[in-house]
Amino acid sequence: MATFKAIRIDKADKGQSVALAEFDEKDLMDGDVTVRVEWSTVNYKDGLALTGKAPVVRRFPMIPGIDLAGTVEASANPQWKPGDKVILNGWGLGETHLGAYGQKARVRGDWLVPLPAGLTARDAMAIGTAGYTAMLCVMALERHGIAPERGPVVVTGAAGGVGSVAIALLAGLGYRVIASTGRSQEAAYLTGLGAAEVIDRGELSGAAKPLAKERWAAGIDTVASTTLANVLSMTKYGGAVAACGLAGGMDLPASVAPFILRAVSLLGIDSVMCPQPVRREAWTRLASALDRGKLQAMTTEIGLDQAPEFGSAIIEGRVRGRIVVKIG
Ligand code: NDP
Repeated sequence: MATFKAIRIDKADKGQSVALAEFDEKDLMDGDVTVRVEWSTVNYKDGLALTGKAPVVRRFPMIPGIDLAGTVEASANPQWKPGDKVILNGWGLGETHLGAYGQKARVRGDWLVPLPAGLTARDAMAIGTAGYTAMLCVMALERHGIAPERGPVVVTGAAGGVGSVAIALLAGLGYRVIASTGRSQEAAYLTGLGAAEVIDRGELSGAAKPLAKERWAAGIDTVASTTLANVLSMTKYGGAVAACGLAGGMDLPASVAPFILRAVSLLGIDSVMCPQPVRREAWTRLASALDRGKLQAMTTEIGLDQAPEFGSAIIEGRVRGRIVVKIG
């Protein structure tokens, strides 16, 4: 009987139990491609799944982990053959479908993206859903006509995963980046990634005025709630804000004033169900646009057994940048 190592979440009397265990291959779910998982990562959503803080896991037992990079072992899908290097982000992995924190995954071939030339599997997971979402935000701002000469871009939750990659990408593209963080001790880290200015997140956390002084042409927001409301109220005429996160809450106590008096646009970003052509474009661009030295500087490597501990840390805001998990 073939088994492999995996983190397993089961329902318990009180909440859930999380343990590193042997998982039986015959219990893998349906899919037309089997992947040998080599690397994964800890995203905010993985933290929610591992801690049970939000109902991310919708099937038990579950192998959590929303992101994987690895090698195709077997395929009944004409798009893939054994030996192909692949990435998978989202599509319900680690939520409704057995996920990435195991040495094997059986998935649908149409969820996979080829590992782009120039990226290792480890690089891809150092980027992970957080970094790929940062690129989706940049692409959305570009589609809206935002360009470096229009003015600065604010990034909220700057020292987190999405924030760190967003800063490195924007700076590399020539934008002046304003990083908003609650961790003033990370100012040198943020300027090292390319931030021109670091502001205290307290400046954006109080109740927002309908309109405030115009400070930036655009924003990438990972925090939501009053932070997003303030970012919108400080966005210049014709600007745009890409909203991808909820680290500060699910609400949006904002006024329509920025939309109807300054023609500001709010752009929603989803990585999970993002169509294949857009995700492939994002990954191709990440391979060429993201400075590898900066990626290295923002990445901490851990083993699979440490994933639960880092899941708690990310929810408590104690993780800086990105975590990469060695699986293979
Ligand atoms: P991280 O935990 O790495 O980063 C979040 C950052 O937000 C923290 O580092 C902290 O930054 C800031 N923060 C945390 N709590 C608060 C708070 N209460 N008030 C204000 N700021 C806070 O997470 P990720 O970067 O991986 O993800 C960021 C958000 O984006 C999450 O909500 C995640 O669910 C979401 N997300 C959404 C995706 C999508 O498809 N739409 C895909 C990926 C992520 P600092 O210390 O610098 O202040």
